[in-house]
Formats: sequence, structure tokens, C-alpha cells
Amino acid sequence: MGTAAGLRSAGRTWALGSCGIFYLGIAAIAWGAVTWVEVGAWTYHYSDRGDYAWEQARNYCQTFFTDLVAIQNKQEIEYLNRSLPFHKRYYWIGIRKLHGTWTWVGTRKALTKEAENWAAREPNNRRSNQDCVEIYIKRPQESGKWNDESCNQKKKALCYRASCQPFQCSQRGECVETIGSYRCECYPGFHGPECENVVQCAKLEPRGVHMNCSHPYGDFSYNSTCVFRCQEGFEQRGADTLRCLPSQQWSADTPTCTAISCPVLSAPDQGELNCSHLYGDFTFGSKCAFSCQTGFALTGPESRECTATGTWTGDSPHCEAIRCPVLSAPDEGELNCSHLYGDFTFGSKCTFSCQTGFVLTGAESRECTATGTWTGDSPHCEAISCPVLSAPDQGELNCSHLHGDFTFGSTCAFSCQTGFVLMGPESRKCTATGTWTGDNPRCKAITCPVLSAPDQGELNCSHLHGDFTFGSTCAFSCQTGFVLMGPESRKCTATGTWTGDNPRCKAITCPVLSAPDQGELNCSHLHGDFTFGSTCAFSCQTGFVLMGPETRECTATGRWTGDAPRCKATACPMLSAPSWGELNCSHLHGNFAFGSTCDFSCQTGFVLMGLESHECTAMGTWTGDTPQCKAISCPVLDPPSRGQLSCSHVHGNFTYNSTCTFSCEKGFLRMGAEMLWCEATGNWTRHAPVCEEDGAPFLKQVLAYSSGTALALAGIVLSGMLIALLAKRLSNREEKKKLLNPTSDLGSPGIFTNAAYDANL
Ligand code: CA
Repeated sequence: MGTAAGLRSAGRTWALGSCGIFYLGIAAIAWGAVTWVEVGAWTYHYSDRGDYAWEQARNYCQTFFTDLVAIQNKQEIEYLNRSLPFHKRYYWIGIRKLHGTWTWVGTRKALTKEAENWAAREPNNRRSNQDCVEIYIKRPQESGKWNDESCNQKKKALCYRASCQPFQCSQRGECVETIGSYRCECYPGFHGPECENVVQCAKLEPRGVHMNCSHPYGDFSYNSTCVFRCQEGFEQRGADTLRCLPSQQWSADTPTCTAISCPVLSAPDQGELNCSHLYGDFTFGSKCAFSCQTGFALTGPESRECTATGTWTGDSPHCEAIRCPVLSAPDEGELNCSHLYGDFTFGSKCTFSCQTGFVLTGAESRECTATGTWTGDSPHCEAISCPVLSAPDQGELNCSHLHGDFTFGSTCAFSCQTGFVLMGPESRKCTATGTWTGDNPRCKAITCPVLSAPDQGELNCSHLHGDFTFGSTCAFSCQTGFVLMGPESRKCTATGTWTGDNPRCKAITCPVLSAPDQGELNCSHLHGDFTFGSTCAFSCQTGFVLMGPETRECTATGRWTGDAPRCKATACPMLSAPSWGELNCSHLHGNFAFGSTCDFSCQTGFVLMGLESHECTAMGTWTGDTPQCKAISCPVLDPPSRGQLSCSHVHGNFTYNSTCTFSCEKGFLRMGAEMLWCEATGNWTRHAPVCEEDGAPFLKQVLAYSSGTALALAGIVLSGMLIALLAKRLSNREEKKKLLNPTSDLGSPGIFTNAAYDANL
């Protein structure tokens, strides 16, 4: 077994083993590092006992050493070519074609172009399957070069014992075999002989970023990995992950977290924006408050916030012009508005105007203010005023006002009271210029005809509205002694006529005088019959004498002076009735005066002695003297034979009303009435009785009744019926007697003689 050893340092020591193996021993290797590490030596060995096919050769190497040699560089080739003995079949090395690629089987790394060390025209793969590689050691030509050979060829195995152990180089690098030693080819990020040092990157101390690092080899050293994450609402700029590179640099710059941007907001029209930015302009956390200019109201959110998603909360607000109430044109007017921001909103300006005949009262223009109210008050179109009209005296005004009292369009009609006539226009109209059409009319009193005073009278007029016009009143009066005939006053009426008729003055009338009875009247009339000024003279007929004034005058009071005179008959002495008589006067002109006639009469049973009638003469004397009444005499009675007579006399012996009683002696019966009475006729009521001897009672009675008449006697023989008729006849006769002598009741001297009495029967 041959051994070869190599030392990369200056002091190389070669040692050849007994079995032909050269050995390079290294006690220690100073590798310029901080520590000394004693490593095993990398040595070459070859099979000095036999030749092997490539696979066998590899088995051999792997059994006793590490593997077939892996030629690392030309220096090694030179070394091997110089150190190894010649062998005619040369030596297998650890290169083989695997899948068509020449590969270092120890490291399974492909052969690099730079490392190729082929002999000329090799690898030629002369026969197929020249898949294994031999090295020409000490070949005359192409010494140290490689040749592809069939793997079944038997050659010496060129082995090496690796100095590199599995845990060398701190497992942070490639352990590279060197001749007799190794060196650590540290992986990126490591350094030091054993790659024990780790590349340090700058310590990361990011701000505003959440960092989560893993440090596999130490804080912020090679392969430290830091993952960055931003808080909600932040956007990361830069790599998410930073790795500490072997270059001591981080794989990227530390990322930054920037607040997520929201779209830039702008102030709304007519508004303002007031933003507070927590992390940056219009980024997460920014808060914008909106406000509007005076006169505008915010519609929408008052503030918006930039959210983590890059959107703003809420919607865009607007500034809307503050609304004022909608204005309308005034009556009879117009409205003309200019709107700055919108109909009837802040800034709107409305001007008012009025139609012809109207004038604006109030603000001519109004502006919608920021408070939503209009400046000024609502204007009105007021009809232009005309001067107030008043009714004419004694007239009336009747106005119709279209728009207001006495304003444009008002029409006033004039009329006059009854009795007045309108002078001027009947109506006036208020024009747009504030003046009335026409002139003011007036009411003129209607005229009546001029009046004049009546004869004997006066006129004194009161004129209310003008001489002898409507309303004028004229009072009439008359002079003393005259009375007004007709109206006392007249009034001028509305029709221009006077009330009533014209009066006149009439002399006052006194009662019409007439002549007194038995007198005469003789009047003289100044103004009319029996009127004021008339004078009447009175006179009486013969037999009469005037009692009272001889003349009377009609005074202004309508009375006559004095009392009415009368004609009094000349008086005669007063007469009285005689005893037992009566006086019956008819007075033509007065008691017992001229013309009076007095008749005397006597009571029944009396007879007048003297002139029956007397007359009062114009001289005041009676014709004849006053007569007397004397009682009528009945025949003187004598006592009957065989009887007695007893009489009583009122007025004289056996005169009217004398009573005589008869009586008979004893034994004698009185035949006839017991008592006789002297009647006014001058007869006794019965025949005087006779005293006779007693007889039949019935006959006596009849005899008594018939009272001595012849017929009575004849009746004795008649039946009772006839007697009754007779009785009635007698009764009628009594009545007939009364009719024929009506004055007999008054006591007038109706004297019936027996003869007359009988004749009537
Ligand atoms: Ca070949």
C-alpha cells in the first residue's frame, strides 16, 4: 500500500509507507486562524497489490480509505504524477460518467471545464462504455492527463484519505481536501478556519414596523431572517423579509410602513376642509372635518376618517346653499330673482316691482341671507293713493275700491240728497297717477218759485241752502184781525215745488149774527160778512124792548163785543089762578109778557065767573079783569015723607059736593039710596028715596039701579039676559060721556043739563 501525504503549508513533509504508500503527515497546521485545529491529514494511497476494475477500485478505496481520488487542481495532478510510481495500466481516479456527465463520484459534482485535464483527444470513448477515468502517471506522453477507459479495465486504485471529517468546518463550509490537509471553504456567511465565525449584519432596529426575526446563527447574523409586518392601516414598502447575507448586508433595505393612503380629499364647493394627519397627508388615521362657508349648510358627514382600507368613512359631503322660503310675487306685482347657488337659496336676490298704478311698499329687493331668512320684509304692491274724497255737502259718496280705499282703481259715484242736484261729474276714478278724473262735483239745492207775502199778511222765510231753494221754509202770518187760510208755512220740496197752496189772510170771522127774536139786525161789513171790522146794530119790533147793546163789533179775536142783545116782550103783571080754578097760559114771548094769553077755567063742580081769556098787550096790560069760580048748585032737597034728611055742605047749601043722608021711620022701608051726593053736573046722584012699607028685595034692587028711567022700568019684564045688556049699555054711555067732554077732568066748566044727558041716551 502506497501512501502519499501533502501539506499545503510551506513545510511539507513526505513520508513513504512500507507498503509503497506515501504518507504525508501533518502534526499541526497553522492556517492563519485564531485556533488551531488538528485535523487529519489528506493522504493519497494506491493499491500496490493488484489491479481492479473501476468499481472494485472504488470499493477498495472506500474500504481502506475514503474514496477514489478526486483531483482538485493541477498542482495535485503534478504532485501525484511526480509522487506515484509508474504503472503500466495506470490508475483509476474518482471520475465517472454518470448519465452522460463526467462526475466526481466522491462529491457527485460534475466535472467543470476548468478542472478538466483530459489527455489529447480524450475522452474519446474509443470503444463504447469508456465511462471511467484513469490518470496517466508517469506516461511518456500526456503524463498526468486523464483518459476515459472502460470501467472493466483493471488498474490500480488511486485512493485518498480525506482529511475532512463530517463535522469539520463547523458544518458551515465545504471542507476542501488539500494535500495532506484540508481547508474549509466556508459557506457564504461564515468565515474563520473552521467557519466558526458568522457574518454579522447590522442590527435592525426599524421603527414603525413590527419585526419578527429568526436568528439561526446569532442575532442579526448570517441567515438571520426578519419578517416585517405593518400595523393595520399601514402599507409596507420594501421587502417583507430581510435576510442577512454573507456580504454582511441585508438582502434589502429595511422596509418601512407607510400609512395607507386614502384619496386626497378636497374641500367641498363653498366649504372648507380641515384635516389632521396622524401619519401623513390623507393617510390612515387622517381625519378631515368639513365645514361650509357662511350661507351654506353641510349635507353629509361632518367629518371623514381615512380607514385602514384606504377608503374614507362616509360619503363626500356637500355644501348646500341655505334655503330661504320660496318667495312669490306680491299681488299686482312681479318678482325677478337671480339665484347664485340655487333657487331661493343663500345669495339669491329677488327684486320686486309693481304693476302700473301700484307702488311698492317695503323692500325693493330682498336677499337670502346665511340664516335662511330674507332681508327686509315682504313688500306689497299698494295701489297708488288718490286723495280721500268726501261726499259733497248734501250729497253722498259711494265708492267701490278695487284695491284699497281711495286708491288706483277706486271709483266714486256721487249723488245728492233728495232736493239737491249734482253739479259736476257723476263719478270720478282714481288714476294710476294718484289723481282723480274730473273735478269735485257739488250738490246744489233745487230752487222753488219765489214766494210773496199774502195780502194783509207777512212772509218771513228761512233759507237753509239758498233763497227759495230746497229746504227753504216760509212762514206766513197775517195782520191782526186776519187769520191765515191755508198752510202756516210752506216748504220748498225736493221737486222744486212748495208744499201746500199759497195761503191768504182772511179777516177773522165772528159768529154770524142774527136778528134777535122780534128784532132786526143791520150790519156793515168791512172785510166780509161778519168778519173782523163788521159792525151790527140791533132794534126790536113793537111790543119788545132791546135788552143788551144796541151795536156789536167783530173784534180781531173773532168775538163780538158785548153780549147778544134780545128783544124782550113788554111785561104784563103776573096772573094767578082763581080759587077752585086754574090758569092756563100760553106765553108767546115770555111769562106774562107781550103776546102771552091766559085762559081761566074752574074745577069740576065750579063755574067761571068773568072773561075766560086774557091777553097781554104791547102796553103791558091785560085785556079784562081776573074772573072767579063759583060752586054749581043742586036742587034743594026736602026730607021724605015718613023719613028724615041730614045734609052736610062743603061749598054752600046744596051745592057741589054737598051730601045728604036719608032715613025712614020705623016700619017703613027706604026705597032708594040712603045717601045722595051733589054732582058737578048740578044733579044729585040719585033720586031722593021714599019711605014705604016693606016689599020684594029683587024688585027693590032693580028699581034702585034703573034710577027712575022709563026703560029701567020696562026691563023688569025682560029676561035676565036683557038686564045684563042693559047694564053694559049703561056703562058704555058713561064712557061716551067722557069723550064728549074732555075738559071735564081739568075742572073746566063742562056742564051737562039733564036734557042733554037724556038726549045722548
Ligand atoms: Ca480513452
